[in-house]
Amino acid sequence: MHDLFGVREIADLIRSILTDPDVNRLGPDCAEPAWDCPLIGVSRGDDPLYTKFQETIGSFHWTPLEAFRAGFPEIDVAASDLAVIVWALPQTAATRRDHRACTTLPSRRWSLARHYGEAANDRLRDRLARALTDAGYPTVAPARLPGFGRETSERFGIASRWSERHAAYASGLGTFGLCDGLITERGKAVRFGSVVAAIDLPATPRPYSGRTAYCLSHAGCDACIRRCPAGAISAEGYDKERCFAYIRETTMPFVEGELGFPVASCGFCQTGVPCESRRPR
Ligand code: SF4
Ligand code: SF4
Repeated sequence: MHDLFGVREIADLIRSILTDPDVNRLGPDCAEPAWDCPLIGVSRGDDPLYTKFQETIGSFHWTPLEAFRAGFPEIDVAASDLAVIVWALPQTAATRRDHRACTTLPSRRWSLARHYGEAANDRLRDRLARALTDAGYPTVAPARLPGFGRETSERFGIASRWSERHAAYASGLGTFGLCDGLITERGKAVRFGSVVAAIDLPATPRPYSGRTAYCLSHAGCDACIRRCPAGAISAEGYDKERCFAYIRETTMPFVEGELGFPVASCGFCQTGVPCESRRPR
């Protein structure tokens, strides 16, 4: 028997999971929340954008139907039976403030959010998938599936089998900036999570007409170019290899010395910029 779940009920459920301090915390012995109140968007599983993403990124990149079947091979569904539910978790004001003050090595709070905040995001993915499945709507969290991982895209280099940023774009949450981060109504200092569910939910409107509609680079903004200590962003776009090399060679060893374990922490391009915590206008 199905309980009734609409977009509002699911948004309430996501928010209530995040109010649990056992889920949303900046560390095992820290009561400070890792994330602010989330933004939530929905897209349909048969949205043509997902096929386009696969064609652009590579055949290894899952469509919603492929992700769902990886979790529930025994359930016979069509792409049109599925909804992709995506959330954006904004960094807190304290984390953004600390990180804004840094220029070459990441703030402690930012690194904690990258590590423990992402663990909180995993708990959210798991709890939401379980709650919806238990309510009669089989649900997978693609980023939690055993087959999830990184592949090499001919066009983009290292790429995930499921891009939550792209799912967020498809779900009306925002558009890409010069550094390839997604600019949302709560800015670019956010992390994304998602599930794919066999549920009939309406898609969130996409109030934009192009991939980079919210980015002000066309109006001369170069703030993220100037913030990047690796020179990985230019007017032409984002150099992923250069970015990853800086993280691997500079920030990860620094964070390992600070916290005792390595964390892929950087994100200077997400703070101290006009799109840090809002859509720039
Ligand atoms: S800092 Fe400026 S150029 Fe960079 S992503 Fe934000 S709006 Fe676009
Ligand atoms: S994550 Fe760091 S290295 Fe990569 S583009 Fe942003 S500021 Fe530059």
